[in-house]
Amino acid sequence: MSKTIFGKIAAKEIPAKLVYEDDRVVAFRDINPQAPVHILIIPREEIARVSDTKPAHEALLGHLVWVASEVARREGVESTGYRLVINNGPDAGESVPHLHVHLLAGRALGWPPG
Ligand code: 5GP
Repeated sequence: MSKTIFGKIAAKEIPAKLVYEDDRVVAFRDINPQAPVHILIIPREEIARVSDTKPAHEALLGHLVWVASEVARREGVESTGYRLVINNGPDAGESVPHLHVHLLAGRALGWPPG
C-alpha cells in the first residue's frame, strides 16, 4: 500500500511537530488545531481506519489509546480533561485514510459533537 501523508510523517519524509514516538506509534501536532491541544496519534503500520483492523491489531489499538493518555499527561491536561476521537468513514468526516486518534484538550469541548 502506498503511504498517505501520515505514513510519510511517520517515516519522517515530510515534517511535523512530533511530540512522541516509539517502535509502533507516532504522535504529532495537528496542522489545523481545533483546540489549544490537538495532537494526532497514529500507528506506523498503514491501516486506513478502525473498520479495517483485525484481531491481530488489538494490542496496537490499546497502545494507541495508552500513548494518547501518556501524551495528555505530558501536555498537562490530565486533570482538566481531554477527548479522544477516531473518525471512521465519510459520515464521521474522516479525511486522511491512515488510522489516527485525535487528542483534543485545553478548552471545554461541546457535546454532542457536530
Ligand atoms: P480526520 O478528519 O481524517 O479525522 O483528521 C485528519 C486531521 O489531519 C485533520 O485534523 C487535519 O487538520 C490533519 N492534517 C491533515 N494533513 C496534515 C498534515 O500534513 N500535517 C498535520 N500535522 N496534520 C494534518
